[in-house]
Amino acid sequence: MPTVITHAFVAGVAAHQFRGEERRRRLWDVGILVSVLPDADVLGFRLGVDYADAFGHRGFFHSPCCAALVALLCAAVFFRHVPRFTARWWKLVAFLSLVGASHGILDACTDGGLGIALLAPFDNTRYFAPWTPIPVSSIGLHDVFTGRFMAVLLREMLWVWLPVIAAWCVLGGIRHLLKCRRGVRSTTGS
Ligand SMILES: [Zn+2]
Repeated sequence: MPTVITHAFVAGVAAHQFRGEERRRRLWDVGILVSVLPDADVLGFRLGVDYADAFGHRGFFHSPCCAALVALLCAAVFFRHVPRFTARWWKLVAFLSLVGASHGILDACTDGGLGIALLAPFDNTRYFAPWTPIPVSSIGLHDVFTGRFMAVLLREMLWVWLPVIAAWCVLGGIRHLLKCRRGVRSTTGS
């Protein structure tokens, strides 16, 4: 998996880009939660669940389907004030689903372990991305600031952080341009 820091970073940037009525801080907190939650499946090791099992590490709990279920649950628990099944609610659920699904997709870009059961629960085949530039890291923060951890983090910065920051800048630029154009139109129209 990429480090927990990178999963959280992606969620944080995505939350920053979210345009909606939700409070930014809560969206950050819940977004980061759903982005790192799939790795809680390692608890299964203690319960005797095998890595390759349907509910093993990188199995069902790393799938987009599970991410959607977690998003529904989080929307119900943490955003009770949002009226259910409204456009605002669905937008929130879609955002949390995408952030949760980003975990499995990023894990599929790592070069170790078993692949990700991206189609679970319908198919337990484990998949890797065609290109796996991210070195697999150990789970959790217990080896944080060791040489290997820092080497992995640097590779993640190159292959994940930089493209995410670039996309952030491009999106921000597009929004700024659209805002300027709207401003010009309203000025010329008045
Ligand atoms: Zn993972």
